Amino acid sequence: MIRVSAGNGQIRAFFVRNSDMLERTREIHQLSPVAAAALGRTMAATAMMAQMLKASGQKITIRINGGGPLGTVLCVADYDGNVKGLVDYPQAETENISPEKLNVGAAIGKDGEITVIKDLGMKTPYIGTYPLTNGEIAEDLTAYFLHSEQQPSSVGLSVKVNVDYSILTSGGFIIQVLPDISEKELRLLESRLLNLPPLSELYETLRDPETVMHTVLDGLNPIVSEEKKVVFHCDCSRERMEEALISLGAKELSSIIEEDGHAEIKCHFCLEAYQFNKMELRKLNIEALGE
Ligand SMILES: [Zn+2]
Repeated sequence: MIRVSAGNGQIRAFFVRNSDMLERTREIHQLSPVAAAALGRTMAATAMMAQMLKASGQKITIRINGGGPLGTVLCVADYDGNVKGLVDYPQAETENISPEKLNVGAAIGKDGEITVIKDLGMKTPYIGTYPLTNGEIAEDLTAYFLHSEQQPSSVGLSVKVNVDYSILTSGGFIIQVLPDISEKELRLLESRLLNLPPLSELYETLRDPETVMHTVLDGLNPIVSEEKKVVFHCDCSRERMEEALISLGAKELSSIIEEDGHAEIKCHFCLEAYQFNKMELRKLNIEALGE
């Protein structure tokens, strides 16, 4: 992932290639091609938007719910480059638009909204939400940026899946213009974006984000200001699962101890299962009683 400044500092842009993290997520959740496309696009966007935050530890969540067969798409990324994501129904399928083109819009649906939650480590997170445009994610985010953050942006997201369902490429960009951009540079940027070959083609042939960036921002004097590795990483832990159990309350915990004698909690993102035996549950129950 790279952060780029162009057009005399009046254009800021992010380019990411996230094929590996998507492949990892596909293996964990057994994603259908269209689920992989929806999740890969959302993961790319979330990873880039996390770089708009200010400090280590801050994170961003994107939730898209359009009423389509995939259910909710949920991605979380932090400033340090860790990304995770899931969809409610990972095996959901839709009819392709053409043999090569997956119908992400139909899989997500457009009867709903996109929600962006920024956790900056303060007491309350910032939450922005905007109705979906077409469920294709890039257009939905463009509208979100414009109306919820008053930030004119161009968002490009693309995922290509192999015939064996593995991920060929996943990548994208977010390009934002600042108020003092000159008319000439704005027109040049617009014409670059208008005449761009399909993004999936760019990422397939050029592969790395920097080469893609130089093609997209040709003539606008782009400078890479930062490079960062983005990876799939789930931050679930036994401690967090213990906290979740304690938050059920003493009454609920007592009944689990009596009826089942053990508990298994599965992380929704990485599907790791955490086991708790009777003795451990009793200990948590004592903590729950103290709260
Ligand atoms: Zn996990």
